[in-house]
Amino acid sequence: MIKGLYVHIPFCKSICNYCDFARCKYTISLADKYLTHLEKELSEIKQDSFYTIYIGGGTPNSLNEKQLERLLEMLSRFKVKKEYTIEINPESFTKEKALLIKKYGINRVSIGVQTFNESLLTHIGRKHTNVDVENTLKYLDEVGINNRSIDLIFGFKIQTLANVITDLQKAVKLNITHISIYDLEVYPTTLFGMQKYEKLDEETCFLMYQTIVDFLNFHGYTQYETSNFAMDRYQSIHNRLYWKYEDYKGVGLSASSKIKNIRTDNTSNFVDYLNDRYLKKTTRLSDNDVIFEAIMMNLRLNEGIDIKEFDERFNCNILEKFHIEIEKNINKGLLEVKKGYLKTTNKGIFVLNDILIDFMK
Ligand code: SF4
Repeated sequence: MIKGLYVHIPFCKSICNYCDFARCKYTISLADKYLTHLEKELSEIKQDSFYTIYIGGGTPNSLNEKQLERLLEMLSRFKVKKEYTIEINPESFTKEKALLIKKYGINRVSIGVQTFNESLLTHIGRKHTNVDVENTLKYLDEVGINNRSIDLIFGFKIQTLANVITDLQKAVKLNITHISIYDLEVYPTTLFGMQKYEKLDEETCFLMYQTIVDFLNFHGYTQYETSNFAMDRYQSIHNRLYWKYEDYKGVGLSASSKIKNIRTDNTSNFVDYLNDRYLKKTTRLSDNDVIFEAIMMNLRLNEGIDIKEFDERFNCNILEKFHIEIEKNINKGLLEVKKGYLKTTNKGIFVLNDILIDFMK
């Protein structure tokens, strides 16, 4: 059984300066056409239930109410066993949309806050205000959706450590149950990329990251993944599927799927998508590809790789196959083996990509 379904809605009210996702400006007519083709793609799915559904973007709530209901209606043929998430951005969330998502069984929201500092919001091209965030939380309160994640970003050149701490304090005060916090990346195709934007240096970002980890741990959040922190039982079940290297199906522009050892990538080209040429690429993964990808994803989790389970799933004794690479990184203080798990240390988690280079073979 494929455990997770991802649905991509590529529309946004405006485009942020750092954004590298598959997205475009919302228009009613384009969104109507897109939903028609999305429906066709969804109709090809044979399975009628998933553990999790995740509607991401883009900004899914940039759809107007009629379109949002149309989307939720077409997804309603799937039974969701565990978690049903939608990404929302505060500038276009309304009480009516809150009622709609509740009506269709959505039980988790991921809110694109990025920062509570309004000058910084302007600097990065976000259009919402703190009042929009407060209203969003109020509407969610009113409909009883309490499982809420916010996204935050650090590393902008005008951001200080004090700014980052203020963002975290605000999140804690608002009783946010899950926080995803990302180190800014500047991609060449974004406005920042074209402007040759210089983010904060690596040392400052590392200091910020360590402060974030310490602050959130102190305030009762458990770090369970490189960029993700959760109170109690609020870890993202859907995202854990990716990190545990489970199978998932993605539909919509640029969405990817992994089913057993087959990866498929949908087109990022709107014209192709609107002409039903969804699929861009199919890749058959070799046994070594599967093992490397599973290591790459599992090591993002703080718990790391369950060595016994890994052996059973992939027929690979990781401690034997990679003993040189593991020993090298243990000696550098970046990896450790503890209670049957191979995991990154606090230092290693920030340089995971460097560690993974050693495992590429
Ligand atoms: S709202 Fe999100 S998806 Fe849309 S442009 Fe901004 S960062 Fe990109």
